[in-house]
Amino acid sequence: MSDGTPSTPRTGDSVIVERSALDALLGSIARQGYEVLGPTVHDGAIVYREVRSAADLPIGYGDEQDGGTYRLRRREDEAVFGYAVGPQSWKQFLHPPRLRLWRARRGQNGDGLEIIEEPTDTPRYAFFGVRSCELHAIAIQDRVFLPGAHPDLSYAARREDALLVAVNCGEPSGTCFCTSMGTGPKASAGYDLALTEVLDGGSHRFVVEVGSDRGALVLDDVPHRAADAADARDAEQVTAYAVARMGREMPEVDLRALLYANYEHPRWDEVAERCLTWGEARSSPRARYRQWMTHKLATCITWCPVGIDITEEVSAILANPMDPTPPAETR
Ligand code: SF4
Repeated sequence: MSDGTPSTPRTGDSVIVERSALDALLGSIARQGYEVLGPTVHDGAIVYREVRSAADLPIGYGDEQDGGTYRLRRREDEAVFGYAVGPQSWKQFLHPPRLRLWRARRGQNGDGLEIIEEPTDTPRYAFFGVRSCELHAIAIQDRVFLPGAHPDLSYAARREDALLVAVNCGEPSGTCFCTSMGTGPKASAGYDLALTEVLDGGSHRFVVEVGSDRGALVLDDVPHRAADAADARDAEQVTAYAVARMGREMPEVDLRALLYANYEHPRWDEVAERCLTWGEARSSPRARYRQWMTHKLATCITWCPVGIDITEEVSAILANPMDPTPPAETR
């Protein structure tokens, strides 16, 4: 269905979906058989839950993030995606922490065991509101779980069926640093649809880039029009604004080489004094944080309770590097 010309969109097209048609977009996704998961406000944070209509989304919310700090705030407008990523990731749905593979039941008269395999059907998810940094994270998960002789079959099935609706960021948080990593704020690949929210004057609309035939199929049932040059310019301004307001920056160096070459840097001791040493089995706080940072380099800045900032730690080591000789052994 279209509200005029053109008709069915194709992969690579850009179309305009008005804010008033957001429920139609969500409804069309649901009619394609997807369970729609997206950002919602819960317990004072943006968390991913089932989304049945636009009213479930965090309309009019923004966030404030800094080292060890997270707070939602009310915006002065009705932006639907006026905040950055929250505490959760999509991994909880693609690779659930608990998954029952089989059950066992005693045989009749208590003899033997009957093994009952779990049904293999997996949920068909639509992730609504995936940020560019999250698309990059999912692509890394794919490299871990999919290739080789022993792919994770549950992950593979969930991933294969998932519809990814990305949102290009217009409001980075104070702890975002995707520009310096080349992972955002605009989604470049890996999505079925990518939305840029444009809110100016009396207009509130989404510039929607079609990334796949599945995405195009969804749009076929949603009122839309072709995007023109002015729409494209407006969308570019949204992400340019995000680039200009990026909260942090990771130095442009070979991080892996830098961290391994500075394995005995005194900065690890300074960080260890603040680190609460959650989650890693290592002999000392210094070794734990070093292990975490060198192997994961994740975006912990907001959610680290003592506000240890990995961009700051990399900059500190870079400013005063040690002899670039890699350690003889990992301890
Ligand atoms: S601005 Fe960048 S780091 Fe922040 S949520 Fe968006 S894509 Fe992720």
